[in-house]
Parts: sequence; structure tokens; C-alpha cells
Amino acid sequence: MSTELERARERLFKSLRRQGKWKAALDAMARVPRELFVPEESRPQSYEDIPLPIAEGQTISQPYIVALMTHALDVRPGDRVLELGTGSGYQAAILSLMARKVYTVERVASLAESASALLRSLGYGNVEVHKAGRELGLPEQAPFDAIVVTAAAPRLPRSLMEQLAVGGRLVIPVGSQHEQWLMKVVRKKGGYATSSLGSCRFVPLLGKDAWS
Ligand code: SAH
Repeated sequence: MSTELERARERLFKSLRRQGKWKAALDAMARVPRELFVPEESRPQSYEDIPLPIAEGQTISQPYIVALMTHALDVRPGDRVLELGTGSGYQAAILSLMARKVYTVERVASLAESASALLRSLGYGNVEVHKAGRELGLPEQAPFDAIVVTAAAPRLPRSLMEQLAVGGRLVIPVGSQHEQWLMKVVRKKGGYATSSLGSCRFVPLLGKDAWS
């Protein structure tokens, strides 16, 4: 890594850690080389706190949002975690350091293939990349202890809530195609508890139970 990039990296984590929260999430994030998950031409910006374009018109989220979402998932070492929207594979790499097993699903085949190859080459052995099927998520591998959706849904998808274990957490942006609320849903014995974590902006989640 160039000295300049190394400095930007230190600046970013210093500023993210200044909040004094999200320790476990930030510790995992600090171990993942974000510069390897962005296109070559964006590498100099990889440690700015901004979203960056990846292939196929998609984006890798801003580090602040990645930290917030990762923290909200409350991942424990024995957990099986599901991600919707593999994209570059960056969020999956972070989760793989915190969980027992990560399943990540991507709609665009070329992104699924390149993320899978990158994750394998970097040694993230407990991540399985799946090409999205007709149903949202991965019902055949449910239930999950945590589910993170890194694309925006028009409403809370019931089909995904049902893929949570009791005690499981779902973090998902919900709203219009231009602006959303980041929602957290916890599955309880008798139902679901929902809370909002703030506003955000994601590319749309496409398919059944999402945007057509
Ligand atoms: N988490 C990624 C960024 C994801 S961008 C990262 O760390 O880089 C959102 C991704 O969601 C896009 O790649 C898009 O193709 C994918 N996507 C959209 N709808 C989807 C669906 N129904 N299932 C799985 N992936 C979907």
C-alpha cells in the first residue's frame, strides 16, 4: 500500500473510532483491504468515507454505513449470516471475520463470479457466494442469525423476515428508490420488533418481494 493510501486509511479509522462505538465492527473492517474491492481507478479514494462505483452500475457503500450496519447486526462468532447484494464482496469479507459462516447472494452473475474469486484468493474461506434465485434470500439455508441487505427494498420483505432464527437480526434499507430508512428487525418468539437506525441511500433491491 502506498504511504498516501496508508495515511488515508489511518485517518478514516481514526475518525470512525472517534464515535467511541462499533468497536467489534471497526476491528473487523480494519482487517479488510478495501482498496482490493474497488476498481483500479478508484483505489486512491478507497479510504475516503464515500461510496464508490463498482462494476454493473452498482456501488460499494460508504465505510460509515458499513460500520453502522455491521454493528447493528450484532454478529457473534457462532453465527450463520446471510447477505443480499454481494457486489464487490467487501461487506461479506468483513462479516466472515466475525461469523462462523457467511452466505452472500448476488443478482448479477458477473459480480457474483468476480467477488467469489476475489474472496477465495484473499483467503476468506467461510464465505459462500450464490447467484440469486427466484426467491429473495436463500430460503433453503434458513434460518439465519443475521441478515443484511445492502440494496434498498420498497417495504420490509416478509419472505426475508421468515428466514430469521428466533433472536435473529435483519438490517435493511426500506423506502423509495431515492431515499430510505435503515431498518432493524429482530425476530422474537411471538413476532418481530422493528426500529429505525437513520436515513440512507442504496441502489434498488430487484426481484420478487422487492422492486420489479
Ligand atoms: N455489499 C456490496 C455492495 C452491494 S451494491 C459490497 O460490499 O460491495 C447492491 C448489490 O445488490 C448489487 O450488486 C445488486 O446487483 C445486488 N442486488 C440487487 N437486487 C438483488 C437481489 N434481489 N438479490 C441479491 N442481490 C441483489
